[in-house]
Amino acid sequence: MSTTATVRVMSAEEIASRAGGSTPPLRWPERSTHFAERAMRLRQLANGHAMADFLVFMARLADAQQAALARLGREGGVAVPDAAAIDEASRAGRPPLAAAEGPRDRAWHAVLREVVAAMRPHVGAGPAADALARLAAADEIFLERQADALLTGVMAGLDLAAAPIVAAALQVLWTHQAIEIGNAARPGATQPIGLIDDTGVCPCCGTRPVASITRSGGDTTGQRYLHCALCGTEWHVPRGRCTHCGEASATKVAYQALDRSDVVDDEDVAARAAKAVIQAETCDACGHYLKIVHGDRDAMAEPVADDLASITLDLLVAETGKERHGVNLMLLFGDPDHADEPDGPGGTAPPAGGH
Ligand SMILES: [Zn+2]
Ligand SMILES: [Zn+2]
Repeated sequence: MSTTATVRVMSAEEIASRAGGSTPPLRWPERSTHFAERAMRLRQLANGHAMADFLVFMARLADAQQAALARLGREGGVAVPDAAAIDEASRAGRPPLAAAEGPRDRAWHAVLREVVAAMRPHVGAGPAADALARLAAADEIFLERQADALLTGVMAGLDLAAAPIVAAALQVLWTHQAIEIGNAARPGATQPIGLIDDTGVCPCCGTRPVASITRSGGDTTGQRYLHCALCGTEWHVPRGRCTHCGEASATKVAYQALDRSDVVDDEDVAARAAKAVIQAETCDACGHYLKIVHGDRDAMAEPVADDLASITLDLLVAETGKERHGVNLMLLFGDPDHADEPDGPGGTAPPAGGH
């Protein structure tokens, strides 16, 4: 059984004043490793995990995504906003790949069929096999409706069992486009797109983050980036600042971690929690939380994989009444009470959390 421990940390101002150096505002996904690293981390986390089968299924899905992303890179042919379109979006304060606004390149349909074909041999009879069969036979109208529901967060009409596969294909399309935008940037330019006012959503596509991750590199240590749930772009937001409302007071922003009470050592609970690879950053000002994955404590950490493997942490935080700011398109939960609420996908509580 697990308990939680709360740790207070430096305020955003304190961290910023100590950080020094320059922090790149954006980190673009890497074509050769983006989904492969996720697959590797999922397999590592599956080892001995209560949800091992689910995590291995997700690892296979990430393998299929990696293959499809590589194919799009080789073949091209997907529309990507040019410099003028990106500039226009920046001036209007809009992300250049706004996910909730059409049109989408239909290249994602071929990606979906590729992913479905890759997954079917690995799935025995059951709901997952049925969902793959539905998608294999689906027409374009059905697929577009599913994409609309997923990307606008309107859960009504969404095929929940098929949603992770549809989301996987959409992630490949958006990740490909984000990579192309990053590649097209002027040499030496770290910021080819504008930053938008709302730091709680992706500056590239407007989707909410799945979690945040701390990364060290160059002369910076432990900088925190938010990882987009759709396109995989990461954007810098100082640590200790609520990603939902911007609150930065150390009396309001706190951290919760799972503590394995079966581990007996000399450290107290708070000291162990302060070293946890994944924590929930909670905000008493707005009542939301976002998980923070510490890549500087475990180099294998990957936001989507670590989020999927730590649902227990969501359940514990939900008991305190906090709402999740993060979105994981691979794990959506139907909530009939909020079926028509356009609040972004995955914004509802995890199963049984708070009900
Ligand atoms: Zn994005
Ligand atoms: Zn807040």
